[in-house]
Amino acid sequence: MTAPAEGTATAPAELARRYGTPLYVYDLDRVRAARQDLFGWLPAGFEVFYAFKANPHVDLVRALRDGEGPGCKAEISSTGELAAALEAGYPGSDILYTGPGKTYGELREAIACGVRTFSAESLSDLTHIGEVALEHGVVADCLLRINSATASATTSIRMTGTPTQFGIDSETVPEIAERLCSVPGTSVAGLHLFSQSNARDEAALIGELTHTIEVAAQIERDLGVELRLLDIGGGFSVPYAQLGERARYPGLRAALESSLDEHFPRWRTGGVRLAVESGRYLSGDSGTLVAGVTNVKVSRGKKFVIVDAGINTFGGMSGLGRLLPVSVQVEADTETEKASLVGPLCTPGDMLGRGIEVPAGLAPGDVVTIPNTGAYGPTSSLLMFLGRPSPTEAAVSGGELVSLTRIERTRTPVPQERAGE
Ligand SMILES: *Cc1c(COP(=O)(O)O)cnc(C)c1O
Repeated sequence: MTAPAEGTATAPAELARRYGTPLYVYDLDRVRAARQDLFGWLPAGFEVFYAFKANPHVDLVRALRDGEGPGCKAEISSTGELAAALEAGYPGSDILYTGPGKTYGELREAIACGVRTFSAESLSDLTHIGEVALEHGVVADCLLRINSATASATTSIRMTGTPTQFGIDSETVPEIAERLCSVPGTSVAGLHLFSQSNARDEAALIGELTHTIEVAAQIERDLGVELRLLDIGGGFSVPYAQLGERARYPGLRAALESSLDEHFPRWRTGGVRLAVESGRYLSGDSGTLVAGVTNVKVSRGKKFVIVDAGINTFGGMSGLGRLLPVSVQVEADTETEKASLVGPLCTPGDMLGRGIEVPAGLAPGDVVTIPNTGAYGPTSSLLMFLGRPSPTEAAVSGGELVSLTRIERTRTPVPQERAGE
């Protein structure tokens, strides 16, 4: 599937001409294609939780749920994401609430809205979930998030095997099993393991996911309860602001089936639900960022193209160290030249690409187009930093504009009797 053709009304450059820059365009047809592909790589019956963190845009998350074929469920981690999920029509029963710092306030809100499935990151987190469930007279189904002591392969982002705020250390499960399984207001429904992100290589992905299934089988024995839902994580990959295509995993289904046959044979008869989770794979290639050139200058022989989209608009998280520094590519159907693509912010960190190929002879008023920017865009950027307006976000489908919105940030008074609640 390709982006809407140049010259059509919903082509990114055309929308940018009409509505200005910086502009994100999300092609919902591509979102649906990614969803169909991901379900296609998995054994029949697998569930997919969409990690709202990647992009909580309501039209995008609605496209992941509605329509033909199996739809996604929601993996959320805040009341903001909860609101987006509910607005997009996800029932509470299709929502998994995760995160290492769940407050009583957000647990109350989630349970009041019908959420019944939580990932518990520690015994104390599990206890908090149970307290709030009891207040509401319900039992919360909890997935114990496991921080596995072992990993099968090296991937770019590691969250397991080391000390971390995420999950229960796998080696401690035998000694705390009884306590984990007897927290009032909770029922240990299953496990949640998430050990990698963005595994381009199919063998690495299969290695990690099948290892996860083995770890889950061991944990089930340690707990001594029959689990009902295994969320084995993800790692499905798509280029990030680079040209290219979503990864393909043609061997994944058979590998998962044989690992499950060995470790959870009851899966064949529906004895345990299975799930993966994914953010970037489902949303990444739907997005195109169009930035306007505001100035071009040369400094000591190097060309700088200054655009109106910086790390306040895209890639702002990379400064935090968990993501690689952003280095975008721009689309070019003409001759190119080397330049640094920088944003408008008053910090040398506002660099989208150092010495990259850009269309030759860019001048103020031109636009550059950055592909594969549907995941980790505005909501993972420094939207507030230096006070520029948020980018405009257009959702398009079938050649039609579905919505045109912008995230507004305003300072509002906090009612003083509620401050600090
Ligand atoms: C961030 C995150 C995801 C999504 O990761 P992607 O690389 O975008 O697929 C899934 N699960 C958990 C627990 C996460 O923290």
